[in-house]
Amino acid sequence: MTPVTSFIGKTVALFGLGGSGLATALALKEGGARVIACDDNPAKMAEAGAKGIETADLRQADWSQFSSFILSPGVPLTHPEPHWSAKLAREAGVEIIGDIELFCRERAKIAPNAPFVAITGTNGKSTTTALIAHILCEAGRDVQMGGNIGTAILSLEPPSDRRIHVVECSSFQIDLAPSLAPTIGVHLNLSPDHIDRHGTMELYAAIKERLVARAGLAVIGVDDPMSRAIAERCEAQGVNVARVSVEPLHVKGVFADGETLVGVTGDDAASVANLSGIGSLRGAHNAQNAAAAVAIALALNVSPDEIRSGLHTFPGLPHRMEEVGRIGDALFINDSKATNADSTEKALKSFDDIFWILGGKAKEGGIEPLKEYFPKIRKAYLIGAASDEFAKTLGSDVPHVHCGTLDKAVEQAASDAQTLGAHAVVLLSPACASYDQFPNYEVRGNHFRDLVRALPGIEAKGA
Ligand code: ADP
Repeated sequence: MTPVTSFIGKTVALFGLGGSGLATALALKEGGARVIACDDNPAKMAEAGAKGIETADLRQADWSQFSSFILSPGVPLTHPEPHWSAKLAREAGVEIIGDIELFCRERAKIAPNAPFVAITGTNGKSTTTALIAHILCEAGRDVQMGGNIGTAILSLEPPSDRRIHVVECSSFQIDLAPSLAPTIGVHLNLSPDHIDRHGTMELYAAIKERLVARAGLAVIGVDDPMSRAIAERCEAQGVNVARVSVEPLHVKGVFADGETLVGVTGDDAASVANLSGIGSLRGAHNAQNAAAAVAIALALNVSPDEIRSGLHTFPGLPHRMEEVGRIGDALFINDSKATNADSTEKALKSFDDIFWILGGKAKEGGIEPLKEYFPKIRKAYLIGAASDEFAKTLGSDVPHVHCGTLDKAVEQAASDAQTLGAHAVVLLSPACASYDQFPNYEVRGNHFRDLVRALPGIEAKGA
């Protein structure tokens, strides 16, 4: 844990007692603050109470006693409209901040030079965070990884000069961290997402920009126009920028030339690593993530040998084009995290001869945007509520079958794929939310993995 000592003797209010909220309350208390915590869910209040956290209904509280208000990133600060607690804090003139801000203040107080890598972007945050943490660990560095991925930031060990914090930041977390100024700030890409929570694309982009604008080194993906503009503005303001791209670069940075990652410094361009054969980093989107990780690693003086070894041993993250196993030449891939067409597109781009399991609770637009990949689909296996709608889109272009359940789809796809033999890929990439049949995408992906691992003749990966 990182005790937050900068609020010693002060009283702070906190709303939102999910995982990171509870960790934040404990870290504040440990550092000597009085915390009064609240949640709309009485069970969360009871859980916090059992852990020694003082709880109260903040609607009834005297807000003049609070020096700060700590808001959970899951709770609306501005859009679609501010949560009642945020409104009360504003009316009382109490600052509203989040756990990343508390970490930044603690770092500024106890170890201002402690290496701090903060990562954001619309897509690829978790993969890049896990990848750079893995490369650094394999290179023998003392690494703490957390934030929006896994462990809450204040549950990590405290910052120190010899310890590298690798922290994934969502836009909501950045919005609540006004003094965020990491050693290395990483912004991967921008596409419309969470606009309901930020108001407009411009506001969303402006929040992401804050993470790199005050970084010691800004690693910025420049493959979309808004992120390119962020890199230009940062540079114009004197920030040290390293660009990342899947197109050739002629300025400082790392780019992917197919599967080769090339580092550019001054007039020099040198190949650093090759992604060929790395099952956990398939596809152009992962080349962008890997290029960003390489740029960070080079900046932290990790040797090219260590970088290559870290890339090759990266296990990947579950549910993101995760290799589950093989039967002969047929490969089984769990891409359950792909809950919309945009994410599924990454998977369809990465494979040929696909036996595609899809469906669930459809998003707006369905699978219409994926039509250009239909020639790669050998057969589609429809599950869940979207089956009829998706069957219409697939039409006569793609052979398809209504399976209803994932169990049935796996059984049929596995059998069909084995008759094709070479290079067949059984891909669960639903392009849908899971809620009609599963509590979340993780449960759906875990079930797929269990079904595949139970298939006769399977050589399971990592089992
Ligand atoms: P995040 O943490 O930002 O949600 P993840 O690393 O968990 O990102 O990846 C989630 C999904 O986003 C992946 O399954 C893939 O479809 C897509 N994705 C990953 N990296 C990128 C990228 N660099 N560009 C575009 N899409 C990506």
